[in-house]
Amino acid sequence: MSHWFERLQKEVINADLCTRCGSCVGVCTTKAIRFDEVLGECLPRLVQACDDCDGRCYFGCSGREVSFPALNDFTHGMQPDNPLIGAHGPMYVGYATDPNIRMRAASGGVITALLKLLLDEEMVTAVLALGTVPEEPLRPVPLVIRDPDDLRLTQQSKYSLAPTNTVLQDIVNVEGPLAYVGLPCQVHSIRKLQMAGHPEALKIKYLLGSYCGNALYFEAIRSYLRSEGVKDPGEVEDLQYRAGEWPGFLQVKLRDGREYRLKKFYANYLTPFFIVDRCLVCTDHSNEFADVSAADAWAPRYEERGQGWSLVYGRTPAGIELVERGRAAGVLELQDMDVDQALDMHSHMTDFKKRGAFVRMKHLASSGRPVPEYGYRPKEIPKKRRMLEAAIHGVFRVGRSRIARWLLPFVPPAMIGMVFEKLRWQWKLITKRTKRADLWDTEFVYTEQREPVESPHLVDAERSRSDNIRG
Ligand SMILES: Cc1cc2nc3c(=O)[nH]c(=O)nc-3n(C[C@H](O)[C@H](O)[C@H](O)COP(=O)(O)OP(=O)(O)OC[C@H]3O[C@@H](n4cnc5c(N)ncnc54)[C@H](O)[C@@H]3O)c2cc1C
Repeated sequence: MSHWFERLQKEVINADLCTRCGSCVGVCTTKAIRFDEVLGECLPRLVQACDDCDGRCYFGCSGREVSFPALNDFTHGMQPDNPLIGAHGPMYVGYATDPNIRMRAASGGVITALLKLLLDEEMVTAVLALGTVPEEPLRPVPLVIRDPDDLRLTQQSKYSLAPTNTVLQDIVNVEGPLAYVGLPCQVHSIRKLQMAGHPEALKIKYLLGSYCGNALYFEAIRSYLRSEGVKDPGEVEDLQYRAGEWPGFLQVKLRDGREYRLKKFYANYLTPFFIVDRCLVCTDHSNEFADVSAADAWAPRYEERGQGWSLVYGRTPAGIELVERGRAAGVLELQDMDVDQALDMHSHMTDFKKRGAFVRMKHLASSGRPVPEYGYRPKEIPKKRRMLEAAIHGVFRVGRSRIARWLLPFVPPAMIGMVFEKLRWQWKLITKRTKRADLWDTEFVYTEQREPVESPHLVDAERSRSDNIRG
């Protein structure tokens, strides 16, 4: 086994810190690493020896160490004024003006509209994005897209684990500049690779990132199917996590014509049972190192109107310019949004990531379990908030027990979904004060880095930095 994969195995995979971003597979020049059972635990595995490896799989990994201070320096050339949301430009709520894009999207279709603009105006040669192809209805696959019409294959969120960054192995012979879409952990890895001068990562000029609360193990879909009486997932012809009008439905179509649908908010019942463990210690909800971030515009005044609304904003000069270009070209309809309102829309998840994750890490570390290193932490978390974490921990512990997962399919999804949704609102209402108390004033401090490991500097790191910080 290679020395570097051995370290990855020990420090990341066995330590339960793998984000499943897919980069280790994507950067392996000898194709020695592969994902086993994407629809299972979804972990990378060495399938052949790779003795002459330079450690890129280890240095690009987003599982064990993601230095926010270093990535902020690299991506934004500064530390953010507001560490709760990261560096950002003007913020907007809006949607894609093309009704087909908006209708098929997870929220307002802003990501797809911007990708289409980039391809139409030949600002990029191709787009790297996770899509669904008819031959593989259950397993999303990363695609290299050159024809704007093919973007329809990529629309909507896929909430099950999907190692998007394996796509890096498909672009060795693809000329840049490229656009890319990823979740925060996937973007962390791309930025780490860019920082180390990885040639394929450096071809990516535009990183579009969606907000991310958490991903689910595919077992969530199996459980849902079982509760609808479908024992064999092979019967599924089409699976969509956000079908129909925003906020959409979890929708499954079977080969024999049967169809099942569950409101998105009801489908959230699967979260406490199948949340990916690593997501509980992730501290990036808003995709802080993307060029453009996009999210659902969760606020009653938009939710009441349906159709699809996104929160969207650029973070880097290139991202800010792209959003403005989208507006000027008429592909995006945008309304101004101030940062406080934007934070308010996602306050529960901001708290979950920027305080909850740190409480959970402290708890894990105190019992000797490995935790990721981010290079920063909140200076202080109020006692009430720390106590609340015990209740959250209890919910996940019970939910993820074998017995709870086994029993789950016996309850009709519409019923448990409705109960879950009611409880969620109650919980949000009860915990609102504690979760918000002092949240906006949270102070963050830099923590000592672990012993730094000499990065491989795959090409000239200075070049990668100046290429990356545009404008
Ligand atoms: C696992 C997950 C968790 C999320 N959590 C939140 C949340 O807590 N709060 C919130 O506001 N928004 C969250 N989102 C983002 C939200 O669902 C929308 O993606 C966002 O609002 C942008 O919508 P859109 O209409 O512009 O996207 P669309 O135009 O429909 O495009 C979606 C893009 O995202 C890409 N994509 C979809 N799934 C994945 C994936 N698993 N990995 C990498 N790329 C993917 C697609 O390839 C496509 O390019 C989450 C998304 C995912 C996948």
